[in-house]
Amino acid sequence: MPDRERVYRTEALILKHSDFGEADRLVTVFTPYYGKLRLLAKGARKPSSRKAGHLESFTRTQLLVARGRNLDIITQAQMVESYAALRRDLWRVSNAYYIGELADAFGEELAENRPMYDLLCRALGWVSELPNLRQALRVFELRLLDVVGYRPELFHCVGCKAAIEPDDNYFSAQEGGVLCPRCGKGRGGARTIPLAVLKVLRHMQTHDDATCLQLRLQPSTLSMMEQVQAEYLTHVLERRLKSVEFLHLLRPPTA
Ligand SMILES: [Zn+2]
Repeated sequence: MPDRERVYRTEALILKHSDFGEADRLVTVFTPYYGKLRLLAKGARKPSSRKAGHLESFTRTQLLVARGRNLDIITQAQMVESYAALRRDLWRVSNAYYIGELADAFGEELAENRPMYDLLCRALGWVSELPNLRQALRVFELRLLDVVGYRPELFHCVGCKAAIEPDDNYFSAQEGGVLCPRCGKGRGGARTIPLAVLKVLRHMQTHDDATCLQLRLQPSTLSMMEQVQAEYLTHVLERRLKSVEFLHLLRPPTA
């Protein structure tokens, strides 16, 4: 539990909500100090509810929460940032859903991760406003991997530790990074990674957001980045699912 107080106050990003019982909503949020939380918003589906408008997905909200026996309960909600531009554009909203899904998948309950919270706020801003959302998502994914502890190794071969040379190298999701041509050739699970793609990924890993978001990239480079990053994210998530989330799912209520 967040603390021993009977009520606590927290800022939160609303990731998603689902119907619960007759009139309630189950709201999944990400917070700066308590990580991911699943909270109950009582009566939020009643037309008269004043809370509902402050609990829409992809809004930043100030919450007052009361500890409950099973689920903590949202007693007050005050929206701080609506990311209104998102909601006027289906493509932008779709990108926000992707961010929300990754946040849900990587977020750990009751585990403080302020950098992840800040990143999610910034990323929702990007997909609300920026022209190139595809590029924004790639920057988001790389930053996310950093803040959850799965930064891919792009500078040294994950096989022999040698510095990576400007060459056609390989990338292995299983091994968590780049392989030099000697180690990567014929290695199971390794794919070639063109130099142009590796250069951009390395640049993004080592430069600030603004610089990365302004890079002018070839569509072919972006699409190759998307493939490589998706493969890596999928691998990391499956590993997490097996090791952590799966246990959470299977754990009986009494354990
Ligand atoms: Zn090597």
